[in-house]
Amino acid sequence: MSHIIHRSLRSVPRMAVSAQGMHITDREGKSYIDASGGAAVSCLGHAHPDVIAALHAQADRLAYAHTSFFTSEVSEALADHLVAHAPSGMDQVYFVSGGSEAMEAALKLARQHFVEIGQPQRTMFVARRQSYHGNTLGALSVGGNEWRRQQFAPLLMEVGRVAPCYPYRDRAEGESEAAYTQRLLAEIEGQFQAMSPKRVIAFVAETVVGATSGALVPTPGYFQGVRALCDRYGILLIADEVMCGMGRTGTLHAVEQEGVVPDLMTIAKGLGGGYQPIGAVLATSRVIDPIRKGSGLFQHGHTYIGHPMACAAALAVQQVIQRDRLLPQVMARGARLRRLLTERLGRHPHVGDIRGRGLFMGVELVQDRASKATFAPELQLHARIKAKAMDAGLLVYPMGGTIDGRSGDHVLLAPPFIASEADIAQIVERLGDAIDAALASLPEARS
Ligand code: PLP
Repeated sequence: MSHIIHRSLRSVPRMAVSAQGMHITDREGKSYIDASGGAAVSCLGHAHPDVIAALHAQADRLAYAHTSFFTSEVSEALADHLVAHAPSGMDQVYFVSGGSEAMEAALKLARQHFVEIGQPQRTMFVARRQSYHGNTLGALSVGGNEWRRQQFAPLLMEVGRVAPCYPYRDRAEGESEAAYTQRLLAEIEGQFQAMSPKRVIAFVAETVVGATSGALVPTPGYFQGVRALCDRYGILLIADEVMCGMGRTGTLHAVEQEGVVPDLMTIAKGLGGGYQPIGAVLATSRVIDPIRKGSGLFQHGHTYIGHPMACAAALAVQQVIQRDRLLPQVMARGARLRRLLTERLGRHPHVGDIRGRGLFMGVELVQDRASKATFAPELQLHARIKAKAMDAGLLVYPMGGTIDGRSGDHVLLAPPFIASEADIAQIVERLGDAIDAALASLPEARS
């Protein structure tokens, strides 16, 4: 009997009681290798001694001080650290408690920027289908995950919607990657024009799409094209790196590999690595200065912004990543993960695509490789894979609705940066077995 409104109201999840390094242990003593860091959160694994020590020290010194009265040494130090490693020109930081809050703050900062520079007619956002930006109403509005939006749609802002960058599904037969990219960019420009570009506040996109479609990596030139379009029309670019950022793809920020600097960027999960709830918005002075010189006040705020405990955890996590040179390790382990996934699943009759970057990989399941037909959504293949994986002592992050919010299944992998070569091999072996076991559990006529 539980009084918690759990994610499912019909069942209570297994009880986690302890965690160490790559593993979480439940009340029955079963150990699970954490190959998804929860939802791409636990970048340093569990119970990292440096982070625990930093938390103890911060609790002894200053656990909380409200930001309307005080700043704190630790939040200033974290902001300095983030700015020192941010894309050039992103030198302003706003702290919040998670990804959705970061997106809300980014949307409101963008809107207030235009109000302060005398363009209050900009009221609309353009965002992509098959994206996830969070579950609060503003973030859910820009998000393009139909399944999550459906019942709340009447409460949401109207948003201009364009296609995701999803070459496996959407690049036409005979169409080059460059031509596909240009087609997507033309669609975005068409959307700006249809809404009247002077009414658009920002284009919002995950640099690498995470949970909704499983590690969709942009095609070369896509984000540079987006940046150029935004510049042409005076529209801001908001990069959502809540999941793909903070080292997950092998560089601290995924946009570094795209060669663009957004105007606003949200970060969260890997920022604090799960040790505390924390998120942040990074912004350029170009966005913030008009607010500073104008009203002088970002009209926003929550009780826990800049929380010293959260900032202490995040600062320790980021210092360990730097000290232990974990970003090159993400690249190396990521390359191994891709190679082993390809060896184990590359010819699998029900694996259509293996994609991703760094330690952020997606495996898309298909009923038929040639036609790319999906399994019937009612079969809940993704849920079966999750269950079989857990039975085998493996935590992965599968999801359905990969293509349109209803059809398609994928598995997302986001192991901690501390994963050893042996851990990676074990993850792939257990995942391969879990996929086979899930497929074997399907009823006979399975399409
Ligand atoms: N943006 C992206 C890309 C995410 O993946 C998520 C969460 O999965 C969010 C925003 C929302 O973050 P949170 O769950 O911390 O509110």
